[in-house]
Amino acid sequence: MHPIDRAHRRLIGPHAIIARLSALHLHSHTPNLFIHPPPPKTLHPSPSICYQYSKDISHTQETERKTAVNFDLDEEQSEIRDMVRRFTEREITPYAGAWDENNHFPREIYTHMAELGLMGMTTPEEYSGSNLSRLSGALVYEELAKGEMATSVGLSVHNMVTGSIARFGTAEQRQRWVTRLATGQLLGAFSLSETASGSDAASLQCRAESRGDSYILNGSKMWVTNGGEADIYLLMARTSAGKGGAGVSCFIVEKGTPGFSFGKTERKMGLHSSPTRELIFEDCTIPAFNRLGEEGQGFKIALSSLDGGRINIGAVAVGVAQAAFDVACNYAREREQFGHPIGAFQAIQFMLADMAMKIEAARLLVYYAAYRLAAGQSTSMNAAMAKCFATDTAMEVTTNAVQVLGGAGYVRDYPVERYMRDVKVAQIFEGTNQIQRIVIARALLGNLR
Ligand SMILES: Cc1cc2nc3c(=O)[nH]c(=O)nc-3n(C[C@H](O)[C@H](O)[C@H](O)COP(=O)(O)OP(=O)(O)OC[C@H]3O[C@@H](n4cnc5c(N)ncnc54)[C@H](O)[C@@H]3O)c2cc1C
Repeated sequence: MHPIDRAHRRLIGPHAIIARLSALHLHSHTPNLFIHPPPPKTLHPSPSICYQYSKDISHTQETERKTAVNFDLDEEQSEIRDMVRRFTEREITPYAGAWDENNHFPREIYTHMAELGLMGMTTPEEYSGSNLSRLSGALVYEELAKGEMATSVGLSVHNMVTGSIARFGTAEQRQRWVTRLATGQLLGAFSLSETASGSDAASLQCRAESRGDSYILNGSKMWVTNGGEADIYLLMARTSAGKGGAGVSCFIVEKGTPGFSFGKTERKMGLHSSPTRELIFEDCTIPAFNRLGEEGQGFKIALSSLDGGRINIGAVAVGVAQAAFDVACNYAREREQFGHPIGAFQAIQFMLADMAMKIEAARLLVYYAAYRLAAGQSTSMNAAMAKCFATDTAMEVTTNAVQVLGGAGYVRDYPVERYMRDVKVAQIFEGTNQIQRIVIARALLGNLR
């Protein structure tokens, strides 16, 4: 047992994360940066209005707050956010540029994140998960994405896999895979898309033929995040010829299974440290034990994680947008032209004001959708709104951050060009933003023909 787990084995849930974070650094010889963070590197602290606002409310309007909408993070959420922020500043931000340059997948960071309890965020404690609230999860993704979007996305996919097996798996399946996923011994990937089926995911063609106590897989899958690096693949394949999602089942496929290989690694605009890979199945035999849920339930399993996944991507986008805004804001204060800081020019001020407004709006949409999901309220429209608005905002904010920096924004001395390249894909995956608008419109209008 890991010494941190041993020391804290009686702690559960979010408390365990906090304890692990502290313990991790009590065991190291370096100063405990989580308890004694270094002073901010920039001259001006991050102008995240939302947090300051919530702090003000808690101190000055205690009485009114009891009857009003509560914008406060609770103590646990604040602590998790702050600690992941410090972890990101120390372990991710300084290296993200090099990972991007070298297409390096930082597997070692996942080991650290596992020690912090982030690899089983929505998983029950009995399987070594942290069982965090949805909002706490969103805070984690937002903070990680400020350092590097790719790591935050990779973690989100992994948690989607861990959470799905914990939720839909039999006791034996959970026993076999969930604890190892939640403790980071295994890394997960999620495989729904194919060359000919993207937005129309239910038209997938990869086949799984039943042979009694086994299935034979044939076909190929595209665009798999963590592809090649992951140990466990949640695979959607067709078990019957039926039209649409009805004939789709879900399987757990282990890396190294004969007949399962990897095709090309995509050469992408951004997100370079996140491998995106093709999967190939040629008469690949897996035990029937590896089917998750009943035959024909696969598409439902895939869809069930969509609301949470969209909220996560919205949170990731808010993190990237905030990081880009912070760089632009500081640059506007320091860069002088015509004898004045460029931030004194109204053209730059208005750009920054619009960026800040939209980031705040996006953050609130994401937190609200997370709240609804946790409260068991219908969430699909809110998750679609959060994902769509936050990712459109992040694209606009990162583009404008490059503009505020001028030539300096276009080169790699500052991270804003990376943010802009990375975040484009957030408008595409987890359902394109056109598809999100369809989801919203259907929720508003019903299925008009
Ligand atoms: C970096 C990256 C990582 C990914 N990771 C994963 C992963 O881990 N697992 C996985 O399964 N998939 C993954 N994907 C796939 C991703 O989910 C798909 O790319 C996405 O669903 C869109 O599908 P498509 O690319 O085939 O586009 P298409 O569906 O071909 O869409 C092309 C265009 O048409 C529009 N369009 C399509 N249908 C409609 C419609 N009805 N109305 C209006 N507009 C429409 C789209 O919005 C888009 O603009 C990843 C993709 C990328 C780029």
